[in-house]
Amino acid sequence: MAIRPCTGCHLRFVGPASTCYSTILDGRLKFEAVSKFCAVCWSALETQLLQVDAEIKPDVSFDYTAEQPCFVCHESVKNRSPQSLFATVYAARSERRDFFASLCSGCRAPAEVLLKAPSWAQETS
Ligand SMILES: [Zn+2]
Ligand SMILES: [Zn+2]
Repeated sequence: MAIRPCTGCHLRFVGPASTCYSTILDGRLKFEAVSKFCAVCWSALETQLLQVDAEIKPDVSFDYTAEQPCFVCHESVKNRSPQSLFATVYAARSERRDFFASLCSGCRAPAEVLLKAPSWAQETS
């Protein structure tokens, strides 16, 4: 099994990576990242995503118009120039999973950090 550094924490790990393709859209500026996470980093990001019910389950119709709290600060994004965050994750030993979350305009920078280095972002918050 290959030993490689995790994109999130930069520590080397053994075993399959969880690959996360993430995008943040605000109509103009696009953020895109492809990360290869170790188990610790992926579970840190997964926790954040599940806290805001971001997972799009294949057998459940996802209501994109439902009001979601901000992915980072968990406050309402209403009237705060919400941005959309999409993530597709091929987690180690599991099926593809898709996530959609809202983001208030003030949380764009921390969200980008979270998507790149979830375990560090969590420690400092
Ligand atoms: Zn890591
Ligand atoms: Zn926010």
